[in-house]
Amino acid sequence: MIVFKNVNKLYNKEFHAVENMNLHIEKGELFALIGPSGSGKSTTMKMINRLIEPTSGTVLINHKNIAEENPVTLRRNIGYVIQHIGLLPHMTIGENIALVPRLKKWDKEKSSKRVDELLEMVGLPTKTYRNRYPAELSGGQQQRIGVIRALAGDPPIILMDEPFSALDPISREQLQDDLLDLQTKFHKTIVFVTHDIDEAIKLGDRIGIMQAGKLIQVDTPERILRHPINDFVRTFIGADRINQIEKYPAIEEVMIHAITIFPTFGLAEGLTKMRKYKVDSLLIIDKDKTFLGVANAREIQKHFSNEKIVLSDIMKRDVQTVKLSQELGDAINLISEHNVEFLPVLDESNHLKGLITRASLVDVMAEQMRTNNNDADVEEDK
Ligand code: ADP
Ligand code: MG
Repeated sequence: MIVFKNVNKLYNKEFHAVENMNLHIEKGELFALIGPSGSGKSTTMKMINRLIEPTSGTVLINHKNIAEENPVTLRRNIGYVIQHIGLLPHMTIGENIALVPRLKKWDKEKSSKRVDELLEMVGLPTKTYRNRYPAELSGGQQQRIGVIRALAGDPPIILMDEPFSALDPISREQLQDDLLDLQTKFHKTIVFVTHDIDEAIKLGDRIGIMQAGKLIQVDTPERILRHPINDFVRTFIGADRINQIEKYPAIEEVMIHAITIFPTFGLAEGLTKMRKYKVDSLLIIDKDKTFLGVANAREIQKHFSNEKIVLSDIMKRDVQTVKLSQELGDAINLISEHNVEFLPVLDESNHLKGLITRASLVDVMAEQMRTNNNDADVEEDK
């Protein structure tokens, strides 16, 4: 589908930003292009939509030399997502998404349907979000809009240049999951640039590794992990990946003390306790510490005028929890999949032991990245 033939890009006649690149990207594949900063990933990508012209060599799309095509038409058929997507601030989310369909002169009804379909698909109800302005969305939501905007005109090819790099780890996981979902539905040809090997492994059907302008290994994630072609790749993928995953601390070490209350307490008592401990939810337990549910401030306030009811009448019973015996990785996945702020931690007999919160996980992951980076430094010193 996309073919690079002996492609070079030189700056100042001597600096090879991209050197003798030969590459076939198949139709319908998600190709992850990875390498350190400055290795030529963005330059490679921009030669596909002609934001940059090669110094020599050819780029072909569907056997056609793109140098002979009209760049404007070319770009209209190639979605493009970058780190700061630049939604147009004075246009609503719906109008932003419909930009390319409008340029392509789709009729109103068709592009409107497309906007609804895409919003729903990434979990942003169109009723709520379609008429909002970009500034009214979180960073993660804006980036989500950037992704579906690139899909809106139904282009066969999508280029994504470090689209999730600026996001916190949990939003990032969610957007990666979204992208995989969208990809199983639409089967686009996607070139995805990242400098994060975990992201490349998770998303890529194949991975291309770049170093100083050269493509040095192209293969499936599994084969690259098993057979790194040289020391550079070995260091880059992290020699000791499996051990790194096991280095997550245990749930017990990360969980925090939960603020609890008995189910027989009244709503005013609940609110007072929340104020005292500055929390917006209380975990409700039995006298023997069996976990029963969660009461949140909003529910309490909603029913506050009713003096006859107690916390057990308004508590949420169907709460996602995690067992003390599970891995921290499970907790991370649960928080992300169920989109909750916290998970009560229970032992095997459903006694409440503590709480894992989104905030505490972000701290752990930040710490994790820091230690992994230090490990990498030590490797290089040897
Ligand atoms: P990556 O996306 O992998 O971080 P880029 O493709 O952006 O890398 O850049 C590759 C190399 O080319 C870098 O060393 C960069 O400094 C250099 N480069 C990029 N654009 C220009 C330019 N317009 N003029 C000179 N050098 C450039
Ligand atoms: Mg770049």
